Amino acid sequence: MILTNYWRTLLNIIYPPKCPYCKTLVEEHGAWCSRCLADILSVREINVMEHRLKYLTSCRAVCEYTGGLKRIIHDMKFRQQRRHAIYLRWLLASSKKPAYFSAIDYVIPVPLHTDRLKERGYNQAELIFKDWSKKEKLVWLPNLLVRDKHTIPQWELTLSERRANIKGAFIITRPEMVKDKNILLVDDIVTTGITLDECAKILKKSGAASVHGFSVASGAR
Ligand SMILES: [Zn+2]
Repeated sequence: MILTNYWRTLLNIIYPPKCPYCKTLVEEHGAWCSRCLADILSVREINVMEHRLKYLTSCRAVCEYTGGLKRIIHDMKFRQQRRHAIYLRWLLASSKKPAYFSAIDYVIPVPLHTDRLKERGYNQAELIFKDWSKKEKLVWLPNLLVRDKHTIPQWELTLSERRANIKGAFIITRPEMVKDKNILLVDDIVTTGITLDECAKILKKSGAASVHGFSVASGAR
């Protein structure tokens, strides 16, 4: 323990922890400075009825997809910055947990198609939420849901095109594991919620008791 603290202190001298956006010195690795944090941290419940999301029980995003967070998520997805996951986990840990967490049986990431996974080398949702699940004492179950269909990136499409694009994109590998379970579906960003709702649809059809969407950032209007 003493040795661990020693190394940590040494590491902090060599690589002092800094806010990922404005580079102000902060107390620990992964942390954002209070100013940047105030700009982005804003827990939002996305109203599933209003957004015509028929299968999700609820949908929550912890931060606004804006400013520094926008850049960190973008660089993590498109510029191979895997290490950025630590900043996103810190944001998750800084927000108040929803009451339903105690009833969650599995945490499942929104899957990427295998071709996209090969191209990128990782699923960003997995980098963010795998370690987080362990800390929250939740069961991480990544391979239950797979993406079986090539889809165009959702941001290029209108609302109705998004629904058609994502329809039938997912399959469940072991439906028997889903029955009567409470599931937390996780992703880096939620915009319209249509992708999460399509995942929720297939989970509900396999008998899931509830499916809650949970993401780091919300780009929803
Ligand atoms: Zn900052």
